[in-house]
Amino acid sequence: MAKAKVEIESERCKGCGLCVEVCGEQVLELGREINLSGYRYVVAVRPEDCVGCCRCAEMCPDTVLAVWR
Ligand code: SF4
Ligand code: SF4
Repeated sequence: MAKAKVEIESERCKGCGLCVEVCGEQVLELGREINLSGYRYVVAVRPEDCVGCCRCAEMCPDTVLAVWR
């Protein structure tokens, strides 16, 4: 069971990939789908590996991510 949960407001994501790079657990990846603003948005591909470190949320310039512990 996951220690934490990351929530993604996908419609606000600009697909910059900063959160993907900073996640040491490889929880996040840019998906193939496009949001209404025309950006590929980030998805949690391994949500069960999230440890709740909050690095992704701290890195995101648009506060797209919320982490629950
Ligand atoms: S909280 Fe940490 S482990 Fe979880 S998705 Fe964000 S960077 Fe990865
Ligand atoms: S850092 Fe924020 S805007 Fe950039 S890909 Fe991640 S969630 Fe999207």
